[in-house]
Amino acid sequence: MEDLFKKLISHSKEYGFIFQSSEIYDGLSAVYDYGQYGAALKNNIRDYWWKAMTQLNEEVVGIDSAIFMHPMVWKASGHVDAFNDPLIDNKDSKKRYRADVLIEEHIEKMQQKINKEVEKARKRFGDAFDEKQFCETNPRVLKYSEKIKDVTEKMVDYLDNNKLDDLKILIEEEGIVCPISGSRNWTDVRQFNLMFDTKLGSLAEGSNTIYLRPETAQGIFVNYLNVQKTGRMKLPFGIAQTGKAFRNEIVARQFIFRMREFEQMEMQYFVKPGTEKEWFELWRERRMNWHNSFGFDANKFRWHKHDKLAHYANAAYDIEFEFPFGFKELEGIHSRTDFDLKQHQEFSGKKLQFFDLEAGESYVPYVVETSIGLDRTFLMILTAAYCEETVGNEERVVLKIPAPIAPIKAAIMPLVKKDGLPEIAREIINELKFDLTCQYDEKDSIGRRYRRQDAIGTPFCITVDHQTIEDKTVTIRYRDSMEQERIPIEKVSKIVREKADIRNLLKKL
Ligand code: ATP
Repeated sequence: MEDLFKKLISHSKEYGFIFQSSEIYDGLSAVYDYGQYGAALKNNIRDYWWKAMTQLNEEVVGIDSAIFMHPMVWKASGHVDAFNDPLIDNKDSKKRYRADVLIEEHIEKMQQKINKEVEKARKRFGDAFDEKQFCETNPRVLKYSEKIKDVTEKMVDYLDNNKLDDLKILIEEEGIVCPISGSRNWTDVRQFNLMFDTKLGSLAEGSNTIYLRPETAQGIFVNYLNVQKTGRMKLPFGIAQTGKAFRNEIVARQFIFRMREFEQMEMQYFVKPGTEKEWFELWRERRMNWHNSFGFDANKFRWHKHDKLAHYANAAYDIEFEFPFGFKELEGIHSRTDFDLKQHQEFSGKKLQFFDLEAGESYVPYVVETSIGLDRTFLMILTAAYCEETVGNEERVVLKIPAPIAPIKAAIMPLVKKDGLPEIAREIINELKFDLTCQYDEKDSIGRRYRRQDAIGTPFCITVDHQTIEDKTVTIRYRDSMEQERIPIEKVSKIVREKADIRNLLKKL
């Protein structure tokens, strides 16, 4: 899997998807630029999310709030006081870690040991195997399960109550070692605020520190009333937005999985208090459907229920994806109660309520949130789409990106650079380009051109050859099956448009 991760990173660079930021100056840590195909793919993913949210749901509307916000926003939201990660350094390797992540990885290792025991027993007992009974009685499994429970409870308690000394003792007691140095020579655990600050010129002296937003959600909360009133929205209704967020991450070593500047796609769904659990379940289902609509292996996605609920949440689940470095969070679905609106109401002194005509009363709505990283979704798609295949005695690398979000939809290729074939290819592009992103490619052998298009995930290659001059037909080659078909030129646009239509994904939701 580590090998796959390295391949994804070098493929992304070689084929113009992702570059290290400021590379000619040796790069900036955990900041990345999207290249020509990366930007196109990212736009397509965002567009699909946006349509799934705002176009398919009449009651969900989209906004675009500013990155800079009044400093009080982050006081009210709790980010100034509590948007911290507990960090710990290994004195030998000089590497820095998040203390909670070290412990979670230790728990995951114990879980894997349990899984191994279960698999061994399943093989031994065959059809008669009862997994539940085995887990409840096998002494080794019981020992690990109890340990997991104990360590998890301690971790949650120490994190919740800011017991940093105890967190360090837990790491030591559990014998957790630094993956680089292998030593247990740890510093104390310290809290580190993840928000970037900067100065805004026009504010009065002393109060001119503002923050780069660490999430897009607060821009939605502070606009709740604006949207509700101007859109004459009734509960339940949602506000969606996509945009940049910034976090000074302590550990940022996983390519675009954890960046210091990244993009989020968030939706806050405002509901009547007491109904939030129902909506929470509905949005969980809807979001998992969205992920499954790409058609990748469903086993690569799983639910993770939060053991440690944030103080304002009454339910929280993550959708995890099996990245090359293991199952990790891709999206969070949270039932956030009325915490945020109430906080902003208190700090701003403005009422942020909803007048419920039927009930004849005003109240602060509850909120169900779906929050996903666009860059992590990009990495998910790259991971799931990347395939190495042997064709004859050649290897091909192909990105099996679903056609509706592929960066380039069709490549148009004259078989040779003469005999009027390039002109016909250009004519075809001139027709297609109003609906689809196309690429003209006449260089190298046709086989090499196919490989190039496979590597960037182009689902359709249209080849113009000498028969085209005679009977106005071309070949269309399908990326995944590599099958080729002869079709009339006049049908190219219809076929490609139909197969690459975003409706194909939206209709699955
Ligand atoms: P993690 O535990 O991985 O730090 P989080 O729980 O802090 O993530 P949220 O605050 O719930 O993340 O943010 C919502 C989503 O934003 C995440 O599910 C993830 O997809 C994305 N995200 C968060 N931090 C980053 C980051 N540093 N780089 C890229 N995407 C991120």
